[in-house]
Amino acid sequence: MRLGSTVSVALSGLVGTVINVEAHIASGLPAFAISGLPDAACAQSPNRVRAAAIVAGHPIRNDRITVNLSPSSIPKRGSSFDLPIACAILAAQGVISSRRTARVAHLGELGLDGTIRPVLGVLPSVLAAARDGIGHVVVPRANAGEALLVDGVRVHSFDTLHSLIETYARLDPEDFPDVDPAGVEPVATREHGDLADVVGQDTARMALEIAAAGGHHLLLVGPPGAGKTMLAERLVTLLPRLSREEALGVMSVRSVLGEVSSDAALDVTPPFEAPHHSASMAAIIGGGGGASIRPGAVSRADRGVLFLDEAPEFKKDVLQSLRQPLESGQVVVARARESVTFPARFQLVLAANPCPCGMGFGKGLDCRCQPRELRTYLARLGGPLMDRVDLQIQVAPVSLAHLNGEPGESSADVAVRVDQARAQQQQRWADLGVGLNSWVPGRVLRRGRFALPRNQLVDLHKALDRGWLTLRGFDRCLRLSWTLCDLRGGTVPTREDIGVALGLRGQGQVAA
Ligand SMILES: [Zn+2]
Repeated sequence: MRLGSTVSVALSGLVGTVINVEAHIASGLPAFAISGLPDAACAQSPNRVRAAAIVAGHPIRNDRITVNLSPSSIPKRGSSFDLPIACAILAAQGVISSRRTARVAHLGELGLDGTIRPVLGVLPSVLAAARDGIGHVVVPRANAGEALLVDGVRVHSFDTLHSLIETYARLDPEDFPDVDPAGVEPVATREHGDLADVVGQDTARMALEIAAAGGHHLLLVGPPGAGKTMLAERLVTLLPRLSREEALGVMSVRSVLGEVSSDAALDVTPPFEAPHHSASMAAIIGGGGGASIRPGAVSRADRGVLFLDEAPEFKKDVLQSLRQPLESGQVVVARARESVTFPARFQLVLAANPCPCGMGFGKGLDCRCQPRELRTYLARLGGPLMDRVDLQIQVAPVSLAHLNGEPGESSADVAVRVDQARAQQQQRWADLGVGLNSWVPGRVLRRGRFALPRNQLVDLHKALDRGWLTLRGFDRCLRLSWTLCDLRGGTVPTREDIGVALGLRGQGQVAA
């Protein structure tokens, strides 16, 4: 029996596991079997490997071939195992040296014409290989850009199986040609406009600053044309730039979706995702048919902003399913036989018209809605979801007087205050293991050393007694007042901070 081996990577969500790919060749009835939980696409690998090997000039011999992908408990999805399987078999046949292939990670689909074709999820796969101490990866040419973003690993690309075999015949992996990183910008940022573009809207500007500083979810209620989308987009410009590790995580989601271009740069701008209200559950939460489980908008928005415009128009079950990621920062997509976890720590911005016709603002004279429609419209967002939205404000249409006013502060100026406020929170909550006021449990704010003195809470208690606030609303006001306090550089929220917080969260007038 002859043996050949190499390594590859299997992905579950964004988590990669290094897989040993071993080929055993024995005499006996010709066969070509793959063991170790291959899915349908992976199990069809023999057809593509056979065809590609013929074109490469080294046909697979008619022996009894067994390929084992271990550990066998981890599902192997898709066609990216074609290339490692071909290498392991050719090593077992003595065409290339198993000593050379053994510690090189291979990823790639083989075309019937012998070309090495792009696959999904190369970035998280190469990250996993590098973490496991693998020094060399061979990836499809179109995926080389994302692989190059990973530190501590050398990236090699070949267009065909033939050219890879030729190179293995002559060289140790140490001497393989490297992919030329020229043309790949190391770091990029996207344009999302500037807060200075927003005319008037003082309350909304303040709400954005508070939302950015404390990580609070936000609801904007206002008529069409009031600039809700423009405001939401600018939240991204106030948030801190992503760290290298965070940016790699954000890009890994795009890698799994096959959306990273070959000249990809590491984008340090927090993502902004704005799915349409007609989007399916799978598009928002994740899932999808066929072989692959795809991350949804909640994961694309990880480390950034998820914006739901016309939020009451989203399907009810979609809105309710946001609760899991809002609570845990990740989303579990369950399928018949398995479940996959994707990251989903996003900041939620909801926008809604005041009523179905959109005209129910101010005195509401132009509103054509029935009283019953008015009552149920914003209630579609659901109490449990709105319980997590600390900031609920009204956005009025811009008046002519505003158009001639002074331009507002720029995003860069506001971002300085946001950074300072965030630094203060990180210090204060370090023992709790949370970084932002919005993540602090209500009981921590009500009892113990962070509880505010009774005389400062008078207005909050009054609102609670009169039923204007629920206990959850009470906690949200406390969280907001801590952020207001951090933004002005204070140490403890004052009665005035609490007054402002009460005013801000009551504005949206969504129940509880
Ligand atoms: Zn109306």
